[in-house]
Amino acid sequence: MMQWSKRRQSSWVQLAGHQGNFQLSEGGEVLKRWSEPEGACLTLLMSDALRDFVPRYYGPLSRHGNIYLRLEDLLSGLSNPVIMDCKMGIRSYLEEEIAKARTCPSLRSDLYQKMVKADPSVPVEEEHAQGGVTKLRYMQWRDTVSSTTTMGFRIEGIMLENGTVLRDFNKTQSLAQLIDAFLTFTKSKLHILRAYQSRLQALREALRDSEFFRTHEMIGSSLLFVHDSSGKANVWMIDFGKTTPTPEGVRLQHDVPWAEGNREDGYLIGLTSLIRLLAEAIRQ
Ligand code: ATP
Ligand code: MG
Ligand code: MG
Repeated sequence: MMQWSKRRQSSWVQLAGHQGNFQLSEGGEVLKRWSEPEGACLTLLMSDALRDFVPRYYGPLSRHGNIYLRLEDLLSGLSNPVIMDCKMGIRSYLEEEIAKARTCPSLRSDLYQKMVKADPSVPVEEEHAQGGVTKLRYMQWRDTVSSTTTMGFRIEGIMLENGTVLRDFNKTQSLAQLIDAFLTFTKSKLHILRAYQSRLQALREALRDSEFFRTHEMIGSSLLFVHDSSGKANVWMIDFGKTTPTPEGVRLQHDVPWAEGNREDGYLIGLTSLIRLLAEAIRQ
């Protein structure tokens, strides 16, 4: 039992987010720092058409003074899992973040530094003078230099079989670069690529039937791709911290461009890109 849980602990890996937000429970579940919006989404998802695409949610848990969401560990049962986190959608910021940046723009020097480090020519003169940028400006910039705006998703990170973590996809934008990343991720194994393709096609069907999907703006949510050497491959929807219910009576299409006020997130644009990309990767 000890050894089993030790092995589980060492195979657990977090590809995105703040390291302090996650723990493993004794029961082998993943504990993610509680947030009201995410808890509400997960509760709804457990009885939605999407339930088979989401980790089981066992409710909130209090531990050492913090509250966590108790989630199924999606890496459980895999040996040396290979995983990839793709952040979905054509934008990664909420409309309310725009409003906030307009009414009380607070400047972040840490985000300015990150921008300068990536490319010193990006900040405009005023931003250089202030030594800071708003969070919105930073997020919009990241969306346009990555594949978010054009493809409707971006790769956040990949962990290979040997534990190597690749996170340098901020400027991965072209179809050819993305196909390359998928071929590295799957080691060009056809059965894995095909398994991912059919899982994504099944997801597209489930999204069509989902009441949750019609009534939620999905921002910053990811698809987690996981496979191992035994050939098990699966894709899961995770991260609903910025997924927001639409106002009464408003339904989203998820496959149309965003204009401020329409709340569209382009989730299906990303899914279609992923399915097309996998088809290309299979052909190569
Ligand atoms: P961010 O908003 O910065 O993307 P976050 O703090 O909201 O991060 P998540 O995106 O939900 O966190 O998860 C971060 C990472 O943790 C994922 O990329 C994945 O590697 C891992 N992870 C999350 N949930 C699970 C799960 N149920 N089972 C296994 N791994 C998980
Ligand atoms: Mg995330
Ligand atoms: Mg998140």
